[in-house]
Amino acid sequence: MLKQLTGKDLFELFDKLAVDYRLLVPGNLADDTRSLLPWDGQQLSLIGEPLQRKPTSHFFPQTDPLLTINSQGTTSLPDDNEKPLALCGLNREDLHGITFVDRFFSAVPADDAYLRKRTDALLIGLAGFAGADRQLLPLAEGHCDFELIYDQQKWLAVAYTATGEDWLTVYADGSAEQLEIIRQQARQRSTPEAELLQQASHLLQADQVPDIFWEEIAARCICCGGCNFVCPTCTCFCMQDRQTATGIERSRVWDSCQLDAFMREASGYNPLGTETLRTRRRIHHKLAADPHRWGELGCVLCGRCDRACPTGIGMFSICKEIVQQFGF
Ligand code: SF4
Ligand code: SF4
Repeated sequence: MLKQLTGKDLFELFDKLAVDYRLLVPGNLADDTRSLLPWDGQQLSLIGEPLQRKPTSHFFPQTDPLLTINSQGTTSLPDDNEKPLALCGLNREDLHGITFVDRFFSAVPADDAYLRKRTDALLIGLAGFAGADRQLLPLAEGHCDFELIYDQQKWLAVAYTATGEDWLTVYADGSAEQLEIIRQQARQRSTPEAELLQQASHLLQADQVPDIFWEEIAARCICCGGCNFVCPTCTCFCMQDRQTATGIERSRVWDSCQLDAFMREASGYNPLGTETLRTRRRIHHKLAADPHRWGELGCVLCGRCDRACPTGIGMFSICKEIVQQFGF
């Protein structure tokens, strides 16, 4: 289903969505960056820089209370009577990141804490000339309920699920020709990053990257964990128990494979006891282990870790060095 929406239509659509969902839309923060903010009927910044907060954090938050045990030993789950989430403004890479994590948390044994938040959520993609400086964002062509596509004058909308179709049904039909033009333009502007990532992945899987390379990269890491905490496909977590007024609250909390305690055992033994091993693992996991387990790379090339890393060793930078040094 292809529809066409005016600016007024968009605002009306968001007003309606906000009745059934906790709708988050891109808005400007005080420092001029953008983030997903609750829809207030006014603030909307669909066009601009990519969102730095990872979209998966809405379903897999940094601290996620799982259960409470009171002094009588009775266990209770967190209140679950909120409306489902609707996230608007996710680009192709963000949507692929959510799909990747959906599969991880849905694999047996399925993760009910994740699925409780995710199952009824609505995803709205963003494509067309909606990037920074009106840069063209490629279409996701799925992975969401519907996608908004800016053609520089109006908004096209394509539905990919029955729920998406229901929300769009009242709007005027859009031009398939205009959609095809945008699709073709996006294809022509495809970037070489994906090819570079594949080359680095092949070199890693063929064991062509020696330990000395990882020693040199690890020497540049300050172990801040930023690369993991912004990454939409990172799923590692640890558990924390906290005494509250009513009992013990058990939460899961993001972990980072760049931190010293990541795999340290109670005995003190740490199978990833050096920064070299941990740095190698971060890249190897996404480019060699994930293709082996899931049949695809564990990096969706969102660019967040390259933007976040204070010492310039995000995924793309490291892949560049791997291919330059060991490619042929
Ligand atoms: S570019 Fe970095 S942050 Fe984004 S998915 Fe790949 S590894 Fe994760
Ligand atoms: S963001 Fe950079 S410096 Fe920080 S842990 Fe990751 S690789 Fe190391």
